[in-house]
Amino acid sequence: MPSPHVFPRHTKAEMPVAVGGDGCYLIDETGKRYLDGCGGAAVSCLGHSDKAVVEAIKTQLDALPYAHTGFFTSKPAEALADRLADKAPEGLNRVYFVSGGSEAAEAALKLARQYFWEKGEKARANVIARWQSYHGNTLGALAAGGNRWRRAQFEPLLTDAMHHIDPCHYWRWGEPGESEEDYGRRVADQLEEKILELGPETVAAFMAEPVVGATMGAVPPVAGYFKRIREICDRYGVLLILDEVMCGMGRTGTLFACEQDGVVPDMILIAKGLGAGYQPIGATIVADHIYATLEQGSGFFQHGHTYIGHPTACAAGVAVLDQIESRDLLANVNRVGSYLKSALQERFGQHPNVGDVRGRGMFLGLELVADRDTKAPFDPSDKVAPSIKKAAMADGLMVYPMGGTIDGERGDHVLIAPPFILTEAQADELVDKLGRAMDAVLS
Ligand code: PMP
Repeated sequence: MPSPHVFPRHTKAEMPVAVGGDGCYLIDETGKRYLDGCGGAAVSCLGHSDKAVVEAIKTQLDALPYAHTGFFTSKPAEALADRLADKAPEGLNRVYFVSGGSEAAEAALKLARQYFWEKGEKARANVIARWQSYHGNTLGALAAGGNRWRRAQFEPLLTDAMHHIDPCHYWRWGEPGESEEDYGRRVADQLEEKILELGPETVAAFMAEPVVGATMGAVPPVAGYFKRIREICDRYGVLLILDEVMCGMGRTGTLFACEQDGVVPDMILIAKGLGAGYQPIGATIVADHIYATLEQGSGFFQHGHTYIGHPTACAAGVAVLDQIESRDLLANVNRVGSYLKSALQERFGQHPNVGDVRGRGMFLGLELVADRDTKAPFDPSDKVAPSIKKAAMADGLMVYPMGGTIDGERGDHVLIAPPFILTEAQADELVDKLGRAMDAVLS
């Protein structure tokens, strides 16, 4: 039974106790199996019983569990940094390890600030991000994030150095008759307007998720959007930070999501899939020119956490990358991901309460609407997303339904982000069970 002393306890005594994992399934203490259709929160990209990763962790624990980076580096940290630098887009060769996504965002924000400080451009402190985005729950990351629901009660604690423009979500906000291309240009140009409004000499960075996850439900940008964003950043000397904490590490079918948009940022944040749930680890991958500025300046980054570069976590990261590469799992992400997307489109494409089926690779989303024609969201008090989660769990399926923010109101979506090892039969099981859960809640 769950203990009453664990905090948080979102669903009170109803939450099952997980005791085991078997590939794409989690198993609770009664022996019930749950198909993991969302990797928890897009974390478990290798499923729950990857022997090679577990062995790598055990081996590292036997050799050296931990050494503080103020005194030592370690072989796993060196190896993982090499591997990530090798795979990251051109020019991003410096890897700062942290323990999760929020920490990766905090490091990037401070690094952007310190970079301009070292360059003598000390007025550059503003950061522009987007509404309906999520970059973490620590105060800097929360201030950058643009989810009004998550921010509301903490507003007095959030820095006013963060500013927001609209996200890129054509299905929701494209004007009637406006082409995707025109829409993409219009919303990207908001960045330029905001930079000019603030004064270019005061802006340090623009931060965005290439494919928006938790707050909107796997929404990819329209073609050309990020290229224009990159151009605008370059025009005004603003750093581009891409948050791939959820959509990175192969989830969209390429190791880094931004590869598909043809842009190279100045920093990429990764976490979730890097440790695949086997260890907590994240990283801020940094462009050479930023690193060089710090090296020629003060010579160090004014930042740090106790567990940065944790050897056991880094060993897990190396083993996860080994698995993704040696088993060619990105091919499965693309093949079974497109099979799953087609199956979702077939099952829900005409559903009266599904407005949009979208996403890339194994990062997919359904937008739930009260009215398909007007795209009107459900009222938050209907609790549609949480009810679907509950019905799916009862039927042995994990999906990640969340209320995002639509015009200041909460709307509902279902995020689907299964392990990369998903089979077509498991994709069918996922769609069947999700369909039953939606029928139970929406009929
Ligand atoms: N950025 C994005 C895009 C995320 O999806 C998340 C987690 N949902 C975070 C940052 C924060 O990561 P963490 O929960 O590991 O701090």
